[in-house]
Amino acid sequence: MSSSKTGIEWTDKTWNPTTGCTKVSPGCRNCYAEAITMRFSASFPTGFNFTIHRERLEQPKKWRTPSRIFVNSMSDLFHEDLDFGYLREIFAVMRDTPWHIYQILTKRAQKLATLADKLEWSENIWMGVSVESQQYTHRIEALKTVPAKVRFLSCEPLLGPLNLDLSLIDWVIVGGESGYQHRPIEPDWVREILAQTRESKVAFFFKQWGGNYSKAGGRMLDERIWDEMPVAWNEHKAKWTIRAVSSLKKLSKNQEQDNLLTLT
Ligand code: SF4
Repeated sequence: MSSSKTGIEWTDKTWNPTTGCTKVSPGCRNCYAEAITMRFSASFPTGFNFTIHRERLEQPKKWRTPSRIFVNSMSDLFHEDLDFGYLREIFAVMRDTPWHIYQILTKRAQKLATLADKLEWSENIWMGVSVESQQYTHRIEALKTVPAKVRFLSCEPLLGPLNLDLSLIDWVIVGGESGYQHRPIEPDWVREILAQTRESKVAFFFKQWGGNYSKAGGRMLDERIWDEMPVAWNEHKAKWTIRAVSSLKKLSKNQEQDNLLTLT
């Protein structure tokens, strides 16, 4: 299963140059990637074992429309078994396709912090860590050492109230867990995180309440949808829309000239 389509609200596409993972914290208990792997087992011959898919490495180069791409929705890019040379190749592909925004999310914040200065970052590479409960806020401190243009938190599945230090953080995503074993989220936990983002002027995205399936509870929080994106996203869109428009103009000018040449 290598389709890039996704129902994840904060991204446009997924890119999985690796699949499979191992669990590291309570947020992994009902891992969505593992559930998908089990459900579509014929598409995952190596099961949920960490697997490199070199044949997918160049995939984003074929996608010409500027998109937000979630890197490794089916794995963790900073997994212990990932070869550092391959990680550098993945970063090179991201740098070579500046019309896309790449959203990398990890629970292995310590490994990320250790490798960050050995990697070459470009402004289209956004980096995030998962923070499911207060016990894992140390991942945020590791994230702050990373020279990414946008640093973000994914508080999903949110398992308890959070008191966050949001300095140097650009974006917070919150979501409840889904599936028949889901652990319920409390509306006040979400409201408290929202209040902290307002105080620190950080973009806030409420993905879902969760429930037996991901869309079961909808995504309204106190009668509104919260789908803020970091400022960098609007800047990126403006830059690449202008480029697309000017290349279209160039194209039509050339076409006009071609037409004139044909007429004369
Ligand atoms: S780190 Fe992510 S992909 Fe890996 S087991 Fe945990 S939830 Fe699943």
